[in-house]
Amino acid sequence: MIDALLKHKKRIVRGSIAVALLAFAVLAWFTLHAPERARHPQAVAMEAESPSYFAVERDLTTLAQHVQSGAATAVGLSTDYALVRTQDGTRYYVRIDAQLGLATELLKAGLAAGGPDIFALESVQPPGPPLSAFARKLDPAWLSLLLPLLLIGLLLYTMHPGRGPGAFRAVSRPSTRFSDVIGVEEAKEALQDIVAYLRNPAKFAELGAKPPRGVILEGHFGCGKTLLARAVAGDAGVPFIALSGSDFSDMFLGVGVRRVKKLFAAARAQAPCVVFIDEIDGLGKRSGGASAGETENNRIINALLVELDGFAPTSGIVVLGATNNVHNLDPALIRAGRFDRICNLGLPDVDERERLFELHSRSVRTAGPLNFRQLARVASGLPPATIANVVNAAALMAAKEGAPAVTQTHLQRMLEQQLMGGSSDAGHSALDPRERNRIAVHEAGHAIVARALGVGVIEKVSILKRGRALGATLVTNDQEIHLQSQAEMRARIGMLLGGRVAELLVLKDVSTGAANDLERVSNMAYRMVTEFGFGKQLGPFSYAGLPERDRSLANCQEAITEARELIREIEGECTALLRAKRPALDLLTARLLEHETVDGAVVDVCLAANELAVAA
Ligand code: ZN
Repeated sequence: MIDALLKHKKRIVRGSIAVALLAFAVLAWFTLHAPERARHPQAVAMEAESPSYFAVERDLTTLAQHVQSGAATAVGLSTDYALVRTQDGTRYYVRIDAQLGLATELLKAGLAAGGPDIFALESVQPPGPPLSAFARKLDPAWLSLLLPLLLIGLLLYTMHPGRGPGAFRAVSRPSTRFSDVIGVEEAKEALQDIVAYLRNPAKFAELGAKPPRGVILEGHFGCGKTLLARAVAGDAGVPFIALSGSDFSDMFLGVGVRRVKKLFAAARAQAPCVVFIDEIDGLGKRSGGASAGETENNRIINALLVELDGFAPTSGIVVLGATNNVHNLDPALIRAGRFDRICNLGLPDVDERERLFELHSRSVRTAGPLNFRQLARVASGLPPATIANVVNAAALMAAKEGAPAVTQTHLQRMLEQQLMGGSSDAGHSALDPRERNRIAVHEAGHAIVARALGVGVIEKVSILKRGRALGATLVTNDQEIHLQSQAEMRARIGMLLGGRVAELLVLKDVSTGAANDLERVSNMAYRMVTEFGFGKQLGPFSYAGLPERDRSLANCQEAITEARELIREIEGECTALLRAKRPALDLLTARLLEHETVDGAVVDVCLAANELAVAA
């Protein structure tokens, strides 16, 4: 019975594969034999001559300039590339894959200005691997027969265990140096001895030192783990073998284990060398489960451990594994003698962010004074990869506007978009004038209190809608903050209450706009009394010190009462402050209604005017 069922199942599987292949062949035939539409003659010529365009690559900024200035005479667009011919006969191509929307908009603008001839290309490719050249020469009718055959061939090829895509990504000799990696100073320091070992493994053995085997690089996405790993190999001048944890998992049993063996055989042949396993948690967590996938994972991890344990002191192989969180790893991997060193890559501090902005800005054309310090202050909490993205996005924005170079304004706008989400130029017209006025009063309240109490640096005050926020007061810190004093926390609470207090003072009424402010205020006040010992009644006591089982017993009511009293007290101070600074508050509100977004300096001007008004 079971046998018959199995046979039946097999037949169904075979049948559906045949149907799929047939459908594919029919589809291929129709696409290739579809009636030729009338096409732009220049497009046909450009496709034929595409190799000459692919000889030179330029960027989107250059294309934008050529379109604006009228230097570009013909632009062919495919989904991935733009081929461009200029007045003086120069030909080049621009990669647009991810920026198709932007490129089209750009060209539309050029078209409106009576710019170049623009037409669509069918897929053009840079002169690539020999197979595609071979395929191009084939008669389409043959191709429709050949494609399914190729598909079957590919299927058989990947099904053969031990092969398939991604067995090894690459062995390379990186030119990256530690000096190219900005930030992560502690991790760099901690990896110095690895570099020394790789330069001269024999010396370590002579001294009887136990060489390092595996190091885990732990850090957020975009922190530069791969870059740092490449720098280890680059500084030591040894080969770098890179692959990803998921490359080991395979739907065929035994393939992963074989890949581990192949990897280390290759590493031994290249030694001294660095083996880098990105997303090492992708190897899977060892588990007690008995499903086929789980036991396969266990086998892969065991194979890796066997290889690590078998390193001789002179082997000269160091394995670097990258993960977002060490807790995701199998504990057996991080035991002594294996991946027993964990390097934590922190987020860059303000000085490092300043250097990152400076570094990435060097690769784009910039103009005018650039204040990297100011950008770095605003970019608090962003990893290096995001900073690189912000600079790139600013360059695209400049290209879209047809600006000759990237300016501070471009960088600032993209950074704000990154931090606050949404675009600042969307939807502000939808606001009713009374709402707009309320938002201006609210934001002015935040800003005046922040400035008067000296909370951070006010970068910007805005009543433009961004994402879900109706307005924003952007306050940053010039230095990284590790500790906050009681007075500083009170000032921050005051700033957050400032919006609501201003609404109450000016409009004699409060709104729902302060909900998020109140949430943050309550959280801060509660933590002040329950964690930091800033409470009057509870005194220097922390709920966090209670054993887990007693936490629910703790009388939160007392803490809540005290937190509320604290907020009330600060609210009173805040009201008194804003009463005294009422002329400044009104002035800033008017400025916001007029300009929608103002700099921190305007807040200073308003406060200075306040002093004059009070003196008069
Ligand atoms: Zn607010």
